Amino acid sequence: MTILSCSGLSKTYAQNTLVTPVLRGISLTVDAGEFVAVMGPSGSGKSTLLHCLGLLEPIDEGELICLGHQTAALSDREKAAIRRQSMGFVFQSFYLIPGLTVRENVLLPLLIRRCSGDRDGRVRQMLEQVGLARREQYRPNQLSGGEQQRVALARALIGQPAILFLDEPTGNLDTKTGREILKCVFELVNSAGITAIMVTHDQAAANWCRRIIRIRDGSIEQDDQRRTR
Ligand code: ADP
Ligand code: MG
Repeated sequence: MTILSCSGLSKTYAQNTLVTPVLRGISLTVDAGEFVAVMGPSGSGKSTLLHCLGLLEPIDEGELICLGHQTAALSDREKAAIRRQSMGFVFQSFYLIPGLTVRENVLLPLLIRRCSGDRDGRVRQMLEQVGLARREQYRPNQLSGGEQQRVALARALIGQPAILFLDEPTGNLDTKTGREILKCVFELVNSAGITAIMVTHDQAAANWCRRIIRIRDGSIEQDDQRRTR
């Protein structure tokens, strides 16, 4: 089953007279259950691609079909609803809400989605899965970077998204902590059967993925789909 596909996807940032073509005709298809690494030099357009595929940025040209939706036809409101219902995001700089506890940060997506049922139980279980059961009442500034990223991961996964987007999730962490986070990511994503796309600089991290897409100057340089681990 195809989760998302794009063809000829192009994106240009224009500010006054400064025009920066960032993505130049990207075509790719991601199937359910794939874990795709996106690599490439700094400034090559990796984050922009992730933002476009995650419906956070509009595209300028080409076609993007996401979770069965022809995205060109969607309003901002409809895109937001798809993100809320079906997508999870983890960024390099955690973006936790500083005034909320760990528990509240992870609960928030369930409140926004108006999920009923045993919300507290789900939050507790999710925090256990990321190894933070004993940090429920902490605030983000009382946590290490690795712990903060675990909270961000729990928040991204609590709603059981169809697709998880990760942009350099270990970029602000030391090597050992980064490895621990990635292990947690792979375990949770694989056991839940979630599709994931992860931008990373880290070849070792990418080596965990069956598929590595290399971007250069806004184009796909290589799409290695059948790597054996
Ligand atoms: P990467 O994640 O591969 O390092 P990005 O996708 O963040 O690259 O950026 C690619 C290019 O797009 C860069 O040259 C950057 O300056 C430019 N860019 C990114 N975001 C914006 C923006 N909001 N406005 C203008 N230019 C941008
Ligand atoms: Mg980036």
